[in-house]
Amino acid sequence: MRVVLRLHGAPAWLHRAQAGLAAPEPTREEKFRSLLNVALGTPYYADRHRTSQILAAEDLCHLPITPLRDLFDRRDSFTNPKALHYRAAFQPPFASREIAVCGTKLALPKGARQIEGLTLAQLHLSQTTMLAATPAALRRLCAAIEARALALPQLSDAIVVLGSLWDGMLLPGERDMLWRCFGVPIFEQWLGLDGERLAWECEAHLSLHLDPRAAEMELDDGELIATSWFARSTPVLRLATGWRGEIRWADCPCGHSGPMLSSLETLRPQEAGLALAAIAG
Ligand SMILES: [Zn+2]
Repeated sequence: MRVVLRLHGAPAWLHRAQAGLAAPEPTREEKFRSLLNVALGTPYYADRHRTSQILAAEDLCHLPITPLRDLFDRRDSFTNPKALHYRAAFQPPFASREIAVCGTKLALPKGARQIEGLTLAQLHLSQTTMLAATPAALRRLCAAIEARALALPQLSDAIVVLGSLWDGMLLPGERDMLWRCFGVPIFEQWLGLDGERLAWECEAHLSLHLDPRAAEMELDDGELIATSWFARSTPVLRLATGWRGEIRWADCPCGHSGPMLSSLETLRPQEAGLALAAIAG
């Protein structure tokens, strides 16, 4: 049985990585051991059977896949109460004069602001030039725009879609809806369970860039299996995401070379039903 080194506090590279700053690249072994340490601090992985699996694992692939249903049914048991709670940084696709973020709480770049509770009055006729929001928040904003209850006259730079397992992602046809309502370029991002950015869309709009430094993505019978190296409040090992996608290596016109994620779709048809219910609500 392999002994896991227990670290005291989070390593410096982790703080910088969580804040979206340049950081010395830790080895994969360092990231793996650090993540196991925080996972062992959650009630879910502190279970005797799972702990012995973790202690015996030499590499991520030796660990069992964590079912998505476990996460949704027992969300609190995946939280490490002793982990340093941080707010992941919002990383805009480019600088913008006035950024507003709706629907999820993130650390914001200078000049950006959080719109709490999606208060339309805060946004209506505001100077917002770039709007970042969860898919559910964007659906409600589109409905408000179509009802002429909301106008964003200065919105000129971008809509950033903050998708995640908690908040879902855009459904087929919704990019067109966003374009019709807002008339600005759309950039999708995939945030991890603690809000950390796992994948993002660049200005070439080909598909999503995956950040292998931030997360390990595997495919299991077409389903994406995700492990976020930088998750600390909610460290989940090899999570079955309920999303299907294709991963390929590409040289993007934006200058990035690396793995890209395309054809992303949900394997949970009820997600579409929940989204429609949210609009109706
Ligand atoms: Zn690119």
